[in-house]
Amino acid sequence: MSKIETEVLIIGAGVLGAATARELSRYKVDVTLVEKEVDVGWGITKANVGVVCQGRDTLEFRPEYHRTKLLWKALPLMEPLCKELDVPFKRVGAYLMIRNLARKDKLDKLAKRTESLGLGTDTYLPYSELKKREPFISRDIKGGLYDHAIAVVHPVCLTQALAENAVQNGVNLMLETEVEEIQTGDSYFSVRTNQGEIKTRYIINAAGEWVDKIAAMVNADDFVLFPIKGYVGVLDRDCSELAKSLLAILPEEPGDMNIVVPTVEGNLLFGIQLQINRRHDHSTTEHMARKALENVRKIIPEISEKDIINSFCGYLMFRNFEIGWHECEVAMSSRVSRFVNMTIGYPGVSASPGAALEVVEILRNDGLRLDPNPKFNPYRKGIPDFSVLSEKERKALIKKDPKFGHLVCRCEMVTEGEITEAIKRGATTLDGVKFRVRPGTGRCQGGFCGPRVTRILARELGIPETEVTKAGKGSAVVPLRTKQLLEEGN
Ligand SMILES: Cc1cc2nc3c(=O)[nH]c(=O)nc-3n(C[C@H](O)[C@H](O)[C@H](O)COP(=O)(O)OP(=O)(O)OC[C@H]3O[C@@H](n4cnc5c(N)ncnc54)[C@H](O)[C@@H]3O)c2cc1C
Repeated sequence: MSKIETEVLIIGAGVLGAATARELSRYKVDVTLVEKEVDVGWGITKANVGVVCQGRDTLEFRPEYHRTKLLWKALPLMEPLCKELDVPFKRVGAYLMIRNLARKDKLDKLAKRTESLGLGTDTYLPYSELKKREPFISRDIKGGLYDHAIAVVHPVCLTQALAENAVQNGVNLMLETEVEEIQTGDSYFSVRTNQGEIKTRYIINAAGEWVDKIAAMVNADDFVLFPIKGYVGVLDRDCSELAKSLLAILPEEPGDMNIVVPTVEGNLLFGIQLQINRRHDHSTTEHMARKALENVRKIIPEISEKDIINSFCGYLMFRNFEIGWHECEVAMSSRVSRFVNMTIGYPGVSASPGAALEVVEILRNDGLRLDPNPKFNPYRKGIPDFSVLSEKERKALIKKDPKFGHLVCRCEMVTEGEITEAIKRGATTLDGVKFRVRPGTGRCQGGFCGPRVTRILARELGIPETEVTKAGKGSAVVPLRTKQLLEEGN
């Protein structure tokens, strides 16, 4: 068991924790980022549709709300950040649509407000115009408001890149390190983890689904988290043509969120079917799946059950929900000094660069000395994506490393070169590789490439295949060799 000291301890390497770590790495300050999972970005950030929300789709984004301020602080930063970190950022635009003309006044109100806030002009388009732009939409759609600014990112890739760049710039990242207990001292916290003790001056609590539990360890839980489970379905790449932009229906019932979202890779996501739920349960249910499919057909009737290749659930953790879902917190606890809570139920991905800046300001105002880190390098190079390269680029890459000439995943066209590079960057599991370079995200969902990726992981990590896991402890891919099974059977 180790015993380490740090100035700032960030608990949780989701998008908020990783963005904060990277922002703090601009300064000469000792930062440790701990994550209980075997990889970064596997909390709520993983169960996300990746929309860089602009805060114009609902009147709930009022300029006086803290959540709105964080979002608007973040928006101009997101595209340059993605460029620096070499992660895809795609401006897809969005249509917020209605199926009943009586609801047009709601869209007019939104458009007027967008203009009055100086956020640009969103245009209302009737069905005939929408149909020209999005030929697969339902005949029941009457019209919609076009927001050109909506963009998409891959939340896990963004988190990996933020963490990778933070580490390049001196942050100490500790994976499989779970915070179990915190003791408050006069000028230091003593944090017990499953890997040993950490003594720290500041704590940034970015534990996502578990922010309240961590806050409760020091009595800084003066808020209530309200978990709302969201279901998202993934459509086959063959369906990419069905929607070029984000398509959404203006909610017809409270809590109704009916959207189709193009991802940076080209697949479409659909959902979000919401349900009040207890945490722990991340299962997808038949009821949620059916309702989401029924809903999405109101946008694109052509989508069928057979087009769904995967689905997932995640929790929107709304803070003090009884006050309103605009409540969020990136603030020093009012009860405990040097302890900052970060809770953004929605849209945490979009607001992450703004939230990270806010933490830096909070620490500076509290007296933490933040001299610039002269070695800070904002750039990080992504892993080459063989599937989108030109013939010339592919040949050059294969010449440099013949592993790029060996195709492992046929659905997504992923090479051995990309997989080994993902492992060099920190992937130690099948999911770690999948979330970096995509083998297993296509139609076969790893049925063909899974065993090959397992073999490459074993070889590169120097472990037997029986020790390779899907997502860390308790998820072995090959629990036994056939020979061993037969011997045990005898
Ligand atoms: C279905 C769905 C769709 C969404 N779509 C969007 C969208 O399109 N755009 C958008 O901007 N937002 C969206 N959101 C919201 C967004 O996903 C969240 O606001 C954001 O991911 C929260 O990030 P986080 O870093 O706070 O949490 P997390 O990603 O959960 O990170 C917290 C980390 O802390 C770790 N942790 C917890 N406890 C401990 C401990 N004791 N010790 C060490 N580590 C610990 C966890 O393992 C986890 O990795 C969506 C959310 C859902 C559920």
